[in-house]
Amino acid sequence: MQDRFLKSIAKLPESLATAVVPLLDKDFAGHIDAQQLTELQAQTQMELNELLLALLPIAAALARPPISEFHVGAIAKGKSGDIYMGANIELPGEALFHSVHAEQSAISHAWLSGETIIEDIIVNASPCGHCRQFINELVEGSKVNIHLPSQDTAPLSHYLPYAFGPSDLNISAPLLSKQQHNLILDSNDPMIIEALDHASLSYAPYTKNFAAVVLETKDGATYCGRYAENAAFNPSMQPMQMALSTMSRHNRDFSEINRAVLIESSKGVVSLVGAAMDALHSVAPIELEHIVAEPE
Ligand SMILES: [Zn+2]
Repeated sequence: MQDRFLKSIAKLPESLATAVVPLLDKDFAGHIDAQQLTELQAQTQMELNELLLALLPIAAALARPPISEFHVGAIAKGKSGDIYMGANIELPGEALFHSVHAEQSAISHAWLSGETIIEDIIVNASPCGHCRQFINELVEGSKVNIHLPSQDTAPLSHYLPYAFGPSDLNISAPLLSKQQHNLILDSNDPMIIEALDHASLSYAPYTKNFAAVVLETKDGATYCGRYAENAAFNPSMQPMQMALSTMSRHNRDFSEINRAVLIESSKGVVSLVGAAMDALHSVAPIELEHIVAEPE
């Protein structure tokens, strides 16, 4: 088991601790599939929602909050039945808007894993306004069930009445729906090709700046993040933050970053390069490779 889970395991009911420890091997990065969940339920005799709430301390152990030192964990459950953990990230010395909230981390985890619908979000405390707005961007976002300890489950529409979202801006394919915005670039560099593939899947209906970041560690592993915009602009998730969140879930230290690539569209009405460099330089002293690609 990874050391980062030691404190969390101590907070779990004994039967759950025993059942979940074998899953927390060196490769665990917050994903538990539907079959594994069924097995955990059988071993613990817990109802599914009870089990998911009980697993939150494991998600919180994925957090990196050097400013608040407040670990928040969240779980997104996809239509496939798999669950995706996420946790907050704060960047040392940088403005607070660079932070990633646990719900954003969990949702981006599900998106990068190919989920097309999120049915449930499980979190320890009522989602903040920023996260309610972020969830509202999802396919059928108003119907996402929010599960909290000692509160009845209610859909997002209960927490965000009179919502403003993508449909108000005539966006018919919101976040998590299939995106394919091909960008053209002549390169044989595997890391650049990976970033290009993710940029083509990014969600940028408001600026058309289809963009992605790939970070590489010294051992050659890569961690990606796609740009995910929001109708209200500010809760948009930057691709650098998403990539750092991916690294954090994989228990990699940011000081291990060896190479960083941002690809964005030449036709976007904004550029993410300044924001991406600020975020990167707060955690790793390396230069950002900034590549601009033409849309097809
Ligand atoms: Zn939040």
